[in-house]
Amino acid sequence: MKILVAVKRAIDYNVKARPKSDGSGVELANVKMSMNPFDEIAIEEAIRLQEAGKAQEILAVSIGSAQCQETLRTAMAMGADRGILVQTDEEVQPLAVAKLLQALVNKEQPGLVILGKQAIDDDSNQTGQMLAGLLGWAQGTFAAKLDVQSETLEVKREVDGGLQTLSLKLPAVVTADLRLNEPRYVKLPNIMKAKKKPLDIVTPSELGVDISPRLKLVKAAEPAARAGGVKVADVQELVAKLRNEAKVI
Ligand code: AMP
Repeated sequence: MKILVAVKRAIDYNVKARPKSDGSGVELANVKMSMNPFDEIAIEEAIRLQEAGKAQEILAVSIGSAQCQETLRTAMAMGADRGILVQTDEEVQPLAVAKLLQALVNKEQPGLVILGKQAIDDDSNQTGQMLAGLLGWAQGTFAAKLDVQSETLEVKREVDGGLQTLSLKLPAVVTADLRLNEPRYVKLPNIMKAKKKPLDIVTPSELGVDISPRLKLVKAAEPAARAGGVKVADVQELVAKLRNEAKVI
């Protein structure tokens, strides 16, 4: 089985995102970018399946500017066998990403597609679900554990009250949640080896996909500053404040 994993180049999770001064979006100039953390988990899971003999090949796909090649090299240093960059400098919204991935799935015929549950920059949490819809495939979102059999896939999903177990028919789409695994550190020799792995570049028009945006970002703004706290002298004062000021009890 071939596994296709979608890896997005996103703002590094240690960086505090700030809106541009004109509110037209998030400031990305001179900001550290890395692989979206949930996509690292997705790649790690694919590698573990390959190590367990359940997958033969791992294909990492990234969509965006030429710099996404770095993200693909990281995926390959972790263990992906090859990469495809769908190169564009245009904004690519989740539906367009899903359509581009659909076109690559039709070409590459993977048995399983793993994505992150969400990209930490736009927090859309849409791409995997849209891709499964476009392909007409089963989907297991927010995956906390995978068990791949020959024709089926058992997915334990993170839901509000605990874990839900689904049995999906392969091929399927899975989105990785935080507890699925802990991604490995990339070792230096593997970074060197990854430089030699195949990385193909295609454009959205070569895949026959129209990526024009469907949504318009109206405004990006900082969240309202948190009001300062108040010290209370004793429990009586706390209860009085909760009852009379906050009116929560
Ligand atoms: P989102 O729906 O934007 O929250 O993204 C969910 C997942 O879709 C991410 O964790 C990635 O696996 C995948 N994805 C979204 N955008 C891209 C992109 N530009 N390139 C590669 N994968 C992407």
